[in-house]
Amino acid sequence: EAGHASDPENFLLRRRQYFPDSLSLSYQNPILMRRAAFQYMFNHKGETFLDAYNNIMLVGHAHPKVVEATTHTLRRLNTNTRYLYDELLDYAAHLLRYFPPPLTKIMLVNSGSAATDLALRLCRAYTGRRKVLALEYGYHGNTLAGIAASHYKHRQGDSWPDTLVCPMPKVFGSGLNDNGEAGRFFSLQGLRHLDEHAGSIGAFIAEPIMGCGGQVPLPEGYLPVLYDRVRAQGGLCISDEVQVGFGRLGQWNWGFEKYGVVPDIVVLGKPMGNGHPIGAVVTTGAVASCFDSGPEFFSSFGGNPVSCAAGLAVLQVLEEEGLREHARATGQYLMDGFRELQGRFRSISDVRGEGLFIGVEVQDRHGNPGTALAGSLKNQLREARILVGTDGPDENVLKIKPPLPFNRENSDRLLTETARILDLLEES
Ligand code: PMP
Repeated sequence: EAGHASDPENFLLRRRQYFPDSLSLSYQNPILMRRAAFQYMFNHKGETFLDAYNNIMLVGHAHPKVVEATTHTLRRLNTNTRYLYDELLDYAAHLLRYFPPPLTKIMLVNSGSAATDLALRLCRAYTGRRKVLALEYGYHGNTLAGIAASHYKHRQGDSWPDTLVCPMPKVFGSGLNDNGEAGRFFSLQGLRHLDEHAGSIGAFIAEPIMGCGGQVPLPEGYLPVLYDRVRAQGGLCISDEVQVGFGRLGQWNWGFEKYGVVPDIVVLGKPMGNGHPIGAVVTTGAVASCFDSGPEFFSSFGGNPVSCAAGLAVLQVLEEEGLREHARATGQYLMDGFRELQGRFRSISDVRGEGLFIGVEVQDRHGNPGTALAGSLKNQLREARILVGTDGPDENVLKIKPPLPFNRENSDRLLTETARILDLLEES
């Protein structure tokens, strides 16, 4: 059929016709996807791919309970928060049980970006300050305020005068201290910003484990020090849990728990609706009330019954299927497997993460970031029908963050194929 996208080549041509080239694609050999279920995806030929990458599909692609809850609600009622309906209260009550005091208030939106934007707006309203302290290679969202706080997306030459960037506190392999010396250090440059701009910083935003930065867990002790200092000079602390939240880390529901801190504002998104677009800000009563005297905050879609039904179903499935504990056990098994591969292959320079949020850093034969090697590994895994991504400042970190039903057998397959491909790549 003329013009109909029935094969990947045809589809690519039509994509170029309608969309800017900046709309990026995974893999040199792009996949025309037709269906997905749990940790598996199926292309136009019916071939099965193992999804080791999509952290949005937290409880599994097309999980029947989430599909049933959303479609049932969609047929019955979809409206906005200016009316009273059960779904809004049921979801808020259930989700807020996952947070420690004083995080007792929730504001619902439709994406992680909208949540970040709202969090930064709340900080500005509450503190009266515009300066934001953020981490190098952090990513928090695609709105103007989100991009300003996202060093990962800053273009050279762009200026973001209200953003103060702290060096990524990386403590493994090629970590550098503030004098440029290699070793197990983390930079305290952020504290210098705090000294220089004390009294003018309104917000500190960080992911507990940096996703786009290359699956980098913050060093123990880093967040407690930064939180104390930010608060001492009158600012608020935001934890961006968009990637790591909702039990993916296994031992914890939220990344901030790993570091023993309680933020003033939490930003949620991605896995919250298992693919249904929903995001949220969870915060304290004091911070939430700073809009009370100003123009109202309203979102046309935020908190609609269908989104709330999706969110509630996700929490129920997580609990019924024990997926957090499963993520802990499977994550440990997979990480042990990759550590074993690290002993066998010089290309693997670091294995890190928590639960089913894992990074495998790749180096070339000279010990430099293995950008090309990581790219080959990702593309060859795709040919073996396993989906992973790459990221990090040098694009040399394999990102593994599968739907949580991902199991030991899936882990074995990922490890076996990685070893087979690395054998070939290291030889050539
Ligand atoms: N924060 C983090 C840590 C993210 O990874 C992302 C998305 N990659 C966002 C915020 C923005 O979320 P969204 O794409 O849903 O707007």
